[in-house]
Amino acid sequence: MAEQASTEFDVLILGGGSGGYACALRAAQLGLTVGLVEKDKLGGTCLHQGCIPTKALLHAAEVADLAREGAQFGVHTTLNGIDMVGVNAYKDGVVAKLYKGLQGLVKSRKITYIEAEGRLSSATTVDAGGVRYTGKHVVLATGSVPRSLPGLEIDGSRVITSDHALRLDRVPASAIILGGGVIGVEFASVWKSFGAEVTIVEALPHLVPVEDEANSKLLERAFRKRGIGFELGARFTGVQYTETGVQVTTENGKVLEAELLLVAIGRGPVSANLGYEEVGVEMERGFVKVDALCQTNVPTISAVGDLIPTLQLAHVGFGEGILVAERLAGLDVVPIDYDGVPRVTYSEPEVASVGITEAQAKDRYGADAVETVSYDLAGNGKSQILKTAGAIKLVRQKDGPVVGVHIVGSRAGELVSEAQLIYNWEALPSEVAQLIHAHPTQGEALGEAHLALAGKPLHAHG
Ligand SMILES: Cc1cc2nc3c(=O)[nH]c(=O)nc-3n(C[C@H](O)[C@H](O)[C@H](O)COP(=O)(O)OP(=O)(O)OC[C@H]3O[C@@H](n4cnc5c(N)ncnc54)[C@H](O)[C@@H]3O)c2cc1C
Repeated sequence: MAEQASTEFDVLILGGGSGGYACALRAAQLGLTVGLVEKDKLGGTCLHQGCIPTKALLHAAEVADLAREGAQFGVHTTLNGIDMVGVNAYKDGVVAKLYKGLQGLVKSRKITYIEAEGRLSSATTVDAGGVRYTGKHVVLATGSVPRSLPGLEIDGSRVITSDHALRLDRVPASAIILGGGVIGVEFASVWKSFGAEVTIVEALPHLVPVEDEANSKLLERAFRKRGIGFELGARFTGVQYTETGVQVTTENGKVLEAELLLVAIGRGPVSANLGYEEVGVEMERGFVKVDALCQTNVPTISAVGDLIPTLQLAHVGFGEGILVAERLAGLDVVPIDYDGVPRVTYSEPEVASVGITEAQAKDRYGADAVETVSYDLAGNGKSQILKTAGAIKLVRQKDGPVVGVHIVGSRAGELVSEAQLIYNWEALPSEVAQLIHAHPTQGEALGEAHLALAGKPLHAHG
């Protein structure tokens, strides 16, 4: 006789993206029974429409740049063209392999995977595919989708979101990108490397506006050099169709034309019509409200990932999912220090940071209690070998630890792992200055910046 699939679990999770599946994996590891409800594909946005496919495109873009610029290194190469069918096959291949691996992992941990659209029906139940599932605890992890502006209609061909951009079968001749945040900047970088004319329209005064201003300015300088256009402080007023594409207007009177408009103004939570309000879960602007341990006002319900108003990053979802699983298993848990979460924009050049900005530090500790140093990558051997420009800026509390690390340069994202240890272990510049970094590496630049901040600069004027 076939075994009846269980409908009762210790933990019942709605949504199988980064937040939901991380919670499922950890809860199962801790011996809890887990049901995971997913209506689309296990892995969610990050694996299928976010982190992984965009980084594959960015790597293909880097290959294109190297082919175009080989002569700079004395290597005769030419870029003969971009075959988007080939690029997409490479990208989709990477996603498919990871997807298969993740499916295997979920299966091996004995998680009950429920492939259906779910809806919260009480504080301990989810209805999915005509079945009522029960959990001693329910975890909401329904994630987010691209946002638009009132009156700005996404048609999926000329006015598109990142979801459509990832499926394009051609390189657009030209593109306008609405929004100079992470997603907008990454697509600008890819398309420029692939040969498109790109203009970013950003309402705030800088690209990547949540970063330290120094990082934004370095990125802007690099983008200017690459020929990526941007209009800053430019509020979008409308888009019209032309014979061949779109015309975008801004409040300051700019009229821009391109083949398509990518709307990259942020992502909104998936929470409408899922029963959350009916069950009494407190919400705010569509996000589910939680305490510092990701618990909602309904004691049996927790929420994680892009659905709650914390940083919309896959690794934040992982962290929150793990935290909830451990709390439900009765382990001691501590709140996440969101300042200590590394943030990377994977454009060329990359922008990476951890901790707080100089402006935030001055607000928090007072202007006189903050010290900064900036180490130019011009002084770093490996960065010169790579021909990348940029800098590492450190922010410290005077006579205290490093509270912010801000990096711009090719491969800067790889440096943020060390920066994150420095911030999270509250290291003093003098302690980091003791550590010998391998030569020649870009990591050495982090060491040099700390040597400078400790008052003993080596390859820097000070
Ligand atoms: C273009 C792009 C690039 C990105 N790049 C990065 C990056 O480089 N690094 C990084 O850290 N982050 C990146 N992100 C952000 C990252 O993808 C998200 O932070 C992460 O996916 C959030 O995870 P989540 O589990 O909260 O939500 P999601 O990944 O959105 O998962 C939610 C899941 O819930 C399912 N679901 C929703 N409603 C229901 C329902 N009613 N029933 C059943 N299932 C349901 C959905 O199908 C989905 O699978 C990027 C995002 C985008 C769009």
